[in-house]
Amino acid sequence: MLYSIGDFVLVRVNEFETLVFEVDFYNPNYANFAVREFEIIGYTNNNYYILAIPENITQDIIIIEANEIKKWKLPSTYLNHKVICLLECAVGGRRKYDPYTNAMVCKICQNSYPYAIANRIDGTLICWSCRTTKGYLIDN
Ligand SMILES: [Zn+2]
Repeated sequence: MLYSIGDFVLVRVNEFETLVFEVDFYNPNYANFAVREFEIIGYTNNNYYILAIPENITQDIIIIEANEIKKWKLPSTYLNHKVICLLECAVGGRRKYDPYTNAMVCKICQNSYPYAIANRIDGTLICWSCRTTKGYLIDN
């Protein structure tokens, strides 16, 4: 899987922020939906990412009970937390959490760039090197 536990990844939400779409992040039909960032806290047994979800999102969520803690090998501190499970295609990129550098990771080469900010419409970063040498991979 592309992303790791502890990564903050980008997903789309609708205008009411009540639903996280389980659709391809790059589906042009959803290009105008907002991008939010959630932390990966684990994986399901069938390769869905388990993302921690803030209180204001109420649809399609799972409340972690003892059974999920055991089944998904989650830290017990997540008991009663809200999560959502998403396939990799619904994730648009990641920002490795680093409180000292606030680095972003290039969507193409996966290199980490301290102090970088998003430069793509979807809220991700493509570094200068990739923009100049791998333009054929850039779809927006
Ligand atoms: Zn790059």
